[in-house]
Amino acid sequence: MTIFQNARFYTTVNHLKDLPPTRAEVAFVGRSNAGKSSAINTLANRTRLAFVSKTPGRTQHINFFDLGEERYLVDLPGYGYAEVPEAVRTHWVALLGRYLQTRQSLVGLIMIMDSRHPLKELDWKMLEFFRETGRPVHILLSKSDKLSRMEQQKTLASVKKALADYPAVSIQLFSSLKKTGGETVEEVVERWFDA
Ligand code: GDP
Repeated sequence: MTIFQNARFYTTVNHLKDLPPTRAEVAFVGRSNAGKSSAINTLANRTRLAFVSKTPGRTQHINFFDLGEERYLVDLPGYGYAEVPEAVRTHWVALLGRYLQTRQSLVGLIMIMDSRHPLKELDWKMLEFFRETGRPVHILLSKSDKLSRMEQQKTLASVKKALADYPAVSIQLFSSLKKTGGETVEEVVERWFDA
């Protein structure tokens, strides 16, 4: 049994004041369509725990999943979807920004990036922003099945190089389709929870 396998939906939050008190939580974030929901479902070994988006960028709330042992997985809304109305975007920035900066129980951030185009401008912004918290980030280069083995290694190496100045950042390849990379994510998150 792994840490994600017992995940159960816990609650949805739209406003910071409604955040539930928790002891420890790991949050998942990424550009809309990067494969975040698929990654959560794959890790939890479930087909529909997190909602795989049909309309990208529409989900603006924060979903909590109970992992047992007073630990939680937090599914943050995806960013970077162009057609989001300004008011929604403003709400998102306020909700996410405040959550990431102030959440005491957040042990680390899992960032999902499509391995075919990692480190987009908003990813850098997110990394810069979160860096100030001093907490660790683990990047999943998702949909790695779309790349050849050679391309996978090249991408991994170039992202590592680009982030060499970020000591609290680690990076791995991940594929929900092929179900590869899950063990490494679990090891990382387990370490964060146990720290
Ligand atoms: P989210 O918006 O970040 O939650 O992304 P989703 O999980 O909804 O995935 C976006 C799209 O990418 C969907 O069409 C998924 O089927 C597809 N996708 C997600 N993960 C993978 C993967 O590992 N491999 C491939 N080939 N496609 C994937």
